[in-house]
Amino acid sequence: MQIDEERQRKAREYARLRRWLSLTSNAVLGLCAVLLIIFNVDKWLRDQLQSVARQFPPLSWQPVPSWYPLQILLYFLIVTIILQIVTLPLSYYQGFVLSHRYGLSVMTLKAWFIDRLKGGGLGIALQAIIVTLIYALLAFQPQTWWLWVAICQLFFSVVLANLAPVIIFPLFYKFSPLPDGELKQRLLTLAQRAGTSVRGVYTMHLSSKTTAANAAVMGLGNTRRIVLGDTMTDRYSTDEIEVVLAHELGHHVHNDMWKALFYDSLLTLGGLFLCSLILHFVIDSWHYYLALTDPATLLFLAVLAGLYGLIIAPLSNLNSRRAEYQADEYALRATGKIASFKNTMARLANQNLAEIEPSPIVEFLFYSHPSITRRLKHADDFAQRLMASHPEPS
Ligand SMILES: [Zn+2]
Repeated sequence: MQIDEERQRKAREYARLRRWLSLTSNAVLGLCAVLLIIFNVDKWLRDQLQSVARQFPPLSWQPVPSWYPLQILLYFLIVTIILQIVTLPLSYYQGFVLSHRYGLSVMTLKAWFIDRLKGGGLGIALQAIIVTLIYALLAFQPQTWWLWVAICQLFFSVVLANLAPVIIFPLFYKFSPLPDGELKQRLLTLAQRAGTSVRGVYTMHLSSKTTAANAAVMGLGNTRRIVLGDTMTDRYSTDEIEVVLAHELGHHVHNDMWKALFYDSLLTLGGLFLCSLILHFVIDSWHYYLALTDPATLLFLAVLAGLYGLIIAPLSNLNSRRAEYQADEYALRATGKIASFKNTMARLANQNLAEIEPSPIVEFLFYSHPSITRRLKHADDFAQRLMASHPEPS
């Protein structure tokens, strides 16, 4: 299998367009939030909600105002829905128009919209829980709220990662256990040789939505499993799928899910601490908001969190690329199937329209996996190391 040059031309074009769209979408989101703050819409909305709350019999716990949790929740929902509506055209263009134009999506508009509603609803519900918790902690633990939020966030992430393959992904995709056969047998042998057990291997019915192939380790603890897209099991050779399985098994053996959770939680902790310093400064020295618990601070906090997220994304990606490189190394070592590994990479590049050689800066900023060119080179280096350690008899 060779890299298809025509597909690569399209892949570069597609990647460039997607980067621009994502940049534009972030800029629009940021600009919108900043404008709402500059024109004091954040404070106006707080005043409106407080005057509504005063219409009802008082309900409060010191030191928070009457109907406080509900005010926070409504504030969050109104702001989030406004921002979602503003960015909907861009996400429609990227998620539907562009992915159809480049032949990656096979979803109908209705199916796409339903998925977006489900995804958006789920995201908003989870964020609403976190936001309400943040403001409760701001009220009752004003100095150490950031530490408690980071701990709660880690706890939520662990629970979500555990539930993801049994509750969340099935909302979007059908799963079925990989049937008994040669593939499953090969995986069990690989796992046995690695001295680990795999709780399950599933096929994920990606083909109802996309033409792209993918595989992953999902779940945590009792739900941990290896998942293969049917867009891969349908058309890759048994050797190629075995290499993919070995890569996923590598993540499994290296406990990459746990490591990523802790690493990202540390980054979150740093960010929350910075947010706390800035928020205290803005309120204690500037008196820009009424108090730490002022619902109007929500947009300000969101802008800070968004900026921090952009800054740390490359750090998170750096960690992820390192884990991917090690999983590749594991797959090459466990199977010794270097040609199949390289075939799989080329196949994935052609099928998924993956740009195989992005500029180093683009790879550093945005790539969670090493570029395919690097992964192919890794396989060649591995082959050389293997030759050096086991020279062929002449
Ligand atoms: Zn991986």
